[in-house]
This record gives sequence, structure tokens and C-alpha cells, in this order.
Amino acid sequence: MTAPLRSIPVDALTEAQAAEELAALAEAIETADIAYHQNDAPVMTDAEYDALRRRNTAIEARFPALKRADSPSEAPPGAAPAAGFAKFRHGTPMLSLDNAFSPEDFAEFAKSIRRFLKLPPEEVLAFVAEPKIDGLSVNLLYEKGVFVRGATRGDGTVGEDITRNLETLEELPRRLPEPFPDAIEIRGEVFMTKADFLAFHAEQTRLHEERERRRERGEKVGEAVRIPVNPRNAAAGSLRQLNPEVTARRPLKLLAYAQGESSSPVADTHSAYLDQLRAWGFPVNPLSRALPDETAAEAFQAEMAARRAGLAYDIDGVVYKLDRLDWQARLGFVGRAPRWAIAWKFPAERAETVLQEIQIQVGRTGALTPRAVMQPVNVGGVMVQHATLHNEDEIARKDVRVGDTVILQRAGDVIPQIVAVVAEKRPAGSQPFAFPTTCPACGSHAVRPEGEVVRRCTGGLVCPAQTVERLKHFVSRNAMDIEGLGEENILKLHEEGLVRSPADIFRLAPHAERMRGWEGWGKSAKGGGTRKVANLLAAIESRRNVPLERFIFALGIRRIGEQNAKLLARHYHSLATWREKMLAATTIGSEAREELGSIQGIGPAIATELAEFFAERHNRDALDDLAREVSPTDAEDFSASDSPFAGKVVVFTGTLEKTSRDEAEAVAERLGARVTKSVSKKTDFVVVGADAGSKAKKAAELNLRTLTEDEWRAMAGLG
Ligand SMILES: [Zn+2]
Repeated sequence: MTAPLRSIPVDALTEAQAAEELAALAEAIETADIAYHQNDAPVMTDAEYDALRRRNTAIEARFPALKRADSPSEAPPGAAPAAGFAKFRHGTPMLSLDNAFSPEDFAEFAKSIRRFLKLPPEEVLAFVAEPKIDGLSVNLLYEKGVFVRGATRGDGTVGEDITRNLETLEELPRRLPEPFPDAIEIRGEVFMTKADFLAFHAEQTRLHEERERRRERGEKVGEAVRIPVNPRNAAAGSLRQLNPEVTARRPLKLLAYAQGESSSPVADTHSAYLDQLRAWGFPVNPLSRALPDETAAEAFQAEMAARRAGLAYDIDGVVYKLDRLDWQARLGFVGRAPRWAIAWKFPAERAETVLQEIQIQVGRTGALTPRAVMQPVNVGGVMVQHATLHNEDEIARKDVRVGDTVILQRAGDVIPQIVAVVAEKRPAGSQPFAFPTTCPACGSHAVRPEGEVVRRCTGGLVCPAQTVERLKHFVSRNAMDIEGLGEENILKLHEEGLVRSPADIFRLAPHAERMRGWEGWGKSAKGGGTRKVANLLAAIESRRNVPLERFIFALGIRRIGEQNAKLLARHYHSLATWREKMLAATTIGSEAREELGSIQGIGPAIATELAEFFAERHNRDALDDLAREVSPTDAEDFSASDSPFAGKVVVFTGTLEKTSRDEAEAVAERLGARVTKSVSKKTDFVVVGADAGSKAKKAAELNLRTLTEDEWRAMAGLG
């Protein structure tokens, strides 16, 4: 972007500079529009966006000849409908408003109305003032009093048909009481309150982290989870879901405030129109107020600015509309904006303070996240002491240093951010922030894989920040599979200090007495004793000889999911060999490293993750500690060629009597078979257990080879 150009005052621009900047502005505004309207992922704050548009208008005013065919001032802000939604053409366009930023701007707006209407000075200009809520504008079409369709604003002329999603809003009247025009468009705003936003934000963050953990374990993950940046973004994303059931679960609110096309007039004034909306059952903002004349605007603006922080929802200004509708009709529009209304924006909520410390927090997945700790400061009525710095690159980009005076902003965003550093106030001798390369929680190396923005702690097994998460994974069903050790019990054992590392789980027996003393562990609610502790200890004992692949998977090494753990176990057979080879593989270019990277399905990137894990002494110690308690069974040396199942497709159906289905499938795989879930012509064997259903039937139809459990065991060499 042309940041240096933009610092030149418009008056001082040469024609060439102006042309260059107009081109850059057109591009930047279009990019921002698409990000905001189509992707619900804003790339700049509203204040920054407004500044770009103002600058564009100012340059065009000075160099009218340079105005571009694609000038943003010609197009209303917005974007064409996204794929996945039907188009909806608004009866009358949904326009956007010109902005005012000062009492002078507002006075000029009122004066221009008087000029246009040729009003004598004694004529009173009554306005209606409405808080400008940060949400998504919608158009609601009613025919014969029934809600028939609804749409987003889109580019102002054509929006997206989101009728099904709007129908999930409780506050939306389905049917209007009489009298009503044959057809009428009602305009309103759909939004999320600050409290709902914070809860939603927390939930999305949790889902995102959960997905990250699954991804790290090499498990399949679904679609990315979007973490909304502000309430408007959250509302827009919720309303523009292709699945209305998702919208229905989101806490969305509606306020109606304007009319579009109407088959017959509804009122003479805007205030009377709002009364009609209320009578029809629409929620209308109770803070809307009729102002007797234009001089009342400044006081109302100040009142709203003062109340802003305490409101349940975000507002970024106040909209002033001329009350008389006949005058509105005469005034009409200029370009994209009506002459009879203006949005008087609040200044962005900013404040200066001193950055005292950059803390590094370690997340449950080992991600190192920087957080700014500042001298507490009031930003728009809210005391702020912390702000996120996102990541390493963000700190470097803004060159944020401890001791710096920084500008904090809450512009429509509930979560404060550091906008910039005040360079003049930087103390002498300050140093650029050096992002730590070791974990502040455990001292292990923190590494950042190429192409990723996040630096992570490699001390998975020992890092206290990650302990509970790792322990949960360690005992989970597909890992060590220790029955009776759910999240709650793990947390309790961890809190009590009995389990700090995976190996500690196998050293619980001497603490049995103490555990029986805990509420719910030793005694049942009815006063009788329970066998909880005994059962748990027995379950733990039974897992001292798990297959090697389970053991490797249970370690929770990044990107070593079940599949990769299986590949490693088959390749190295025993824990001792695996450990030795992994240690050797920590040397880049070593034979062991080459071998590891060349295993089919592993590859160099995963080899690097393994090497980093083993390079960490803490991890090796924890592994050795664990190996003193657990002796994983060696993976069988299968040369598949002499097994009858080698290269065959096998399906298991029904209940097996002698082993679990999981184990039978594992055996078949070890013998070189590919196990699938459904029966088809490509299936070679169907192993039929008790109570087999449709799959057995289908196998018979397709004339496939079926085996009883005993036949299968005999062929598999299980005796
Ligand atoms: Zn750590």
C-alpha cells in the first residue's frame, strides 16, 4: 500500500501522485469491501475504512479529472452476493449514509437541507435520532401482512436471499396486524449483544483449540472454526450461514428502523413511521428520539457517546433523519447517499498508555501467545490493562517494545488492540522485543515450523501448561485406553499432585488409601463403600503391556496420529529400537534421519517433528521414566506375502465372541489386509460374527467368501 503517499496532505499532492493514490485507494477499498461483506472477515477497522473513503473523496474533489471509472465514491460500499445464496433485488435500493464527524459537519448537513428546500430561517427542522448499531442490515418483505422474503444489503441493489435464516429470529414478526399496505419492505439491523458476543467468542475459541488438538494428533478435522473479531462480524457470519439450523443456534437480535418500497404510504413523518413499526410488533430501539430542531443534535450525540460503553450492544455513532417524509422525498439522493440523513460517527475509542510487559502465555496445545500488559487506561468507558499481540510477526511488524507508549483502540471491537507505537515517546536505549525460543512454563525449546505463525513448546510430556491435555490424550480410548480415567479424574489426580507425568499413573497403587478418602472415590452417596479405586488400579495394571503402536500414539507427539504411530511401530518393531533410532535421527543428515523420512507415509516434515521431540531432554527422560512402568509389546514382523489375507479386502460384521472388533481389525491389518466398513464387489472376505445384519445378507447376494469367527481365527493363526 501507498502509506508514504497517504501521509502527504491532499493539497500538496502532484497530479501524478494523486492518480497513483486513487488507483491504490480503489483497490484497497474494494479489497476491504469484499473482506467485510462477502467473507465476514474485515481486514481493517471501521475508522481506517472511513479514513480511506474520506481521503478518496478529498482527492477526487481536488482533481475531478482524475476520477476513475471504478471510483469507490460511485459504488456504495458492499459486495455482490456470495455463492450459495439466491439473489434478491431490493424494491428500492438500500443506501448508505454520508458521515459527519464534528458539530461543524452536522451544521453543514442541516444547512444543505435548508438550501435545497429553500426554507426560511424560522422554519424548524425536526429530526429523528437513532443509535447506529454495528450489525448487518437486512430488508424484510411483507406481502398482505405476511413475511415472505428477507435479504442482506449486498451491494445495495441486489442482496442475498436469507429468508430461511431470518425466520429463525424470534423477534421477527411473521404476520402484521391490520391495517398494512399490500406490500412493504421493512429495513432493520440484525446484531449480537456484547455479552452474547463474548460468550460466542469464547465458545468458538474453544472449538478452534479442540480442532487444533485433533489436527496435532493427526486426526481428521472438519471445517475451520471461525473466531469472530467483533459483534458485527459475528452477526454477519451467523446470518449468512448456508444452514439455517446454525443461524437458529446463534443469539441474534433485530431492530427495525426504516422502510423501503411500500405499495401505499404508511405515515407522514419518520417518527410516526417508527410508531407504526412498533404497532406491527417490530422491535424498535427505545433510545430513538424525536429532536425538535437541529440544535438538539449535539446534545444527543454527547449523551449517546457517554452512554455508549454501558449499552448492551455496540454503536459507532448516531443516525439523524429528517422527520418530515415529504421533505425526504423532495431531497432525494446524491450518488449513493440520501440528502436527508447523516451518520454522525463517534471518534474511534482510543487511548495512550505505557506498555509495561510482554507476557508469553503457553496454551494447552503448547502455543506461545504474547500478551501486552499495560498501565491500566480508560478506553471509551472501559478500563483496559491487557491486549493481545497475536503472534511473533505482529510484534515485529509493529515493532512494539517494552516501555513504549502505545495507542490502544476499541473501535467496534470489544477486544482491545494496540494500533501503533508512539515513536517520539520511545525511551532511549529500548530494545526490539526478542520472542523467546524456550517455553516460559517448562524451559523446553519452542520451535516454529516453516510457514507457520505460531511458535510451540516441544516439551509436550513435561510442560505444566500442557500436562492435563496430554494426560487426557495418554489415557484415551485409542491410546492407552485406561478405563475409569476420564477428564474429571485426571484433573483431580493432577490437582492433588499425584499425577504430573504419564508414568505417575502407574505409580498410584501406594496412594490407594489417600484416594479412597476423596469425596466420591471411596464412599458412595448412600454411605456404602465403592470399588472405584480398586477398579481404577486394576484397569491401570492391565495396561502395562499395550501394543507398541498404542504406546507411541499415546505420547501425543505432534502430528503422530494413530496411523503414523502404526507405521512407526511396524517399521521399528520394539520400543528399544525405536527409541535408539529416534535419538540418532535428531542429527540432521544422519542415516537414521534418512531412514525415518523415507518410511512410506512419514516423510521429512513428520521426521522433523519426531526429531524435535527426541532432541528435548525432558521428553526423553519422561519417556524413559514411562518405559520403566510400561513394556509395550513388540509389533509383529509381518511379511504379508505368506498370509492368506495379504492384499485382501476384509469386512467384519456382527459381534465377535473371542476378541473385540477393534483387535480383530488390527490383526487383519497386521496380516496385510485392508479393512473396510462396507461390503462391495471388491470385498474378498466377510467375517461374520453373531447377530450379523445387512452386511452378511449383502455378502451372500454378492456371492462373497464368508468366514465364521473360528474360521477367521484359524486362518489368521490365532488358534
Ligand atoms: Zn512448555
